[in-house]
Amino acid sequence: MDQSKRVIFVTGGVLSSLGKGIVASSLGTLLEKEGLNVTIVKADPYLNIDSGTMSPYQHGEVFVTEDGAETDLDLGYYERFLNRPMTKQNHITSGKVFFETILRERKGDYLGGTVQVIPHITDEIKRQILNQPVDIDVIIVEIGGTVGDIESLPFLEAVRQLRFEIKHTLSVHVTLVPFIETSGEIKTKPTQHSVKELRSLGLNPDLIVCRSSVSLPKDHRKKIALFANMHPDCVFENPDVKTIYQVPLILQQQGMLEKVMDKLSLTAKNKVVMDDWKRMVESIIHPLHEVNIAIVGKYSSLADAYKSINESLLHAGIALNAKVNIHYIPSEELEEDGHSIDERLQQFDGILVPGGFGERGIKGKIATATYCRINKKPYFGICLGMQLAVIEYVQNVIGYAEATSAEFNPQAEHKVFHLMTDWIDDQNHVQQRTEQSDKGGTMRLGSQLCELQEGTQVYNIYKRKEISERHRHRYELNSIYIDQLQKHGMTVAGYSAHQHLAEVIELSDHPWFIGTQFHPEFQSKPTQPHPLFVNFIKTALEIKSS
Ligand code: GLN
Repeated sequence: MDQSKRVIFVTGGVLSSLGKGIVASSLGTLLEKEGLNVTIVKADPYLNIDSGTMSPYQHGEVFVTEDGAETDLDLGYYERFLNRPMTKQNHITSGKVFFETILRERKGDYLGGTVQVIPHITDEIKRQILNQPVDIDVIIVEIGGTVGDIESLPFLEAVRQLRFEIKHTLSVHVTLVPFIETSGEIKTKPTQHSVKELRSLGLNPDLIVCRSSVSLPKDHRKKIALFANMHPDCVFENPDVKTIYQVPLILQQQGMLEKVMDKLSLTAKNKVVMDDWKRMVESIIHPLHEVNIAIVGKYSSLADAYKSINESLLHAGIALNAKVNIHYIPSEELEEDGHSIDERLQQFDGILVPGGFGERGIKGKIATATYCRINKKPYFGICLGMQLAVIEYVQNVIGYAEATSAEFNPQAEHKVFHLMTDWIDDQNHVQQRTEQSDKGGTMRLGSQLCELQEGTQVYNIYKRKEISERHRHRYELNSIYIDQLQKHGMTVAGYSAHQHLAEVIELSDHPWFIGTQFHPEFQSKPTQPHPLFVNFIKTALEIKSS
């Protein structure tokens, strides 16, 4: 075992959604600013192998990594806070751990032994946690769920063993310290209980981060420290803030970085400078402009379903000193009262139609594309949003009223989008995945190169010919329609470098009507906003103020 690596475990107590991911990411940001190579691993106790088959209603969006893993949305936070891209190795699930172990058992690798949770499952968890690139100095491991859940027990047992086996580890416990409005009291009891629970599993926290709606008085800090067997300066607070990007600054102000470095016997390489980060936060808190963007989607009741898109819009706002107000419009509502679409949509400065699967709600999205095309409203179509913009064009401009995607009607005469079955696994640029539910379909996943056509609007936005963007879809623009589309004014502005598949469309007689087959939202960071999002918001702002 490589004893030079430091491992930080982040667990959560009391209840879920306390922002363990933000704490882990913020710690990552600070350690990276120290000059250390940091990565973050999410360990999810559920039995799904990955997040690919999970409904965004339950777990929020599926985040896609460069190497094509379909992961938990927390990996999106990790990428937005860190400089290093996440990979398949950064997401562990019980499903993945059990699957590997059972495969090994079938191969006879256990040589007649009984295969058990301890040590075989815990060994596999430990192997997957430590399976990180050699240059990594610090691995932060976020354990999903809450301490006390039955299903996370093998993970916590693996953490206990690792703490014994690795020289420099740290256990950070994120808990809730509720403030009772009626009595004006701050309650530390839930934290005491969750520390007790953690201890019963053989884990002593080194640091505690308290989520609270109010600032934690010294006495309460002392009390928590006493129960948790630690010094009061090991208890940190993470109060409600205007933006999650404040969290690294708040933790730094309380001296958390020094504490972590000290406990892990790390010596400072750099003086941590957070100036760029502070400027970014300042621009979120004090914007000069405002813009209203509608997301017309299927999962509009759950903001997490479009997490990376929301973030990308926010990042574009940071670059332009603008507050981007996001309004979710369920596309099904637009279907029901078609006559009022103009009324519903005209108030927005730009409209984004995100990705999605299945037929539900597509009529409303097609009507949205029609509205934006005719009324010159900025339109950003991502994946399914791009496909529907093309279908709308074929239906209403070229005139094939029944045009659709094979996803919605495999028997249709005009299948403008269809399945490509002759995939070439060219240097792993195309990943294959078969789902039980999907009649053996293939999914294009992960980063692929795309070549932009010089002179197009998109080329001028990226200012580059070759770009790399992430994919997660099955259907492709049927090339037999490309000539007709171009003749009628819809330009194919980019093709995949390896298979020459249409990737980007735009309308030239429109201020901003762009659709991408890929998902640009997976690459935007607050400190490096994505050019397409920035240009979309810039145009929306310009039109608004003209
Ligand atoms: N359902 C479409 C496809 O599979 C679009 C997928 C998406 O928007 N991510 O091609």
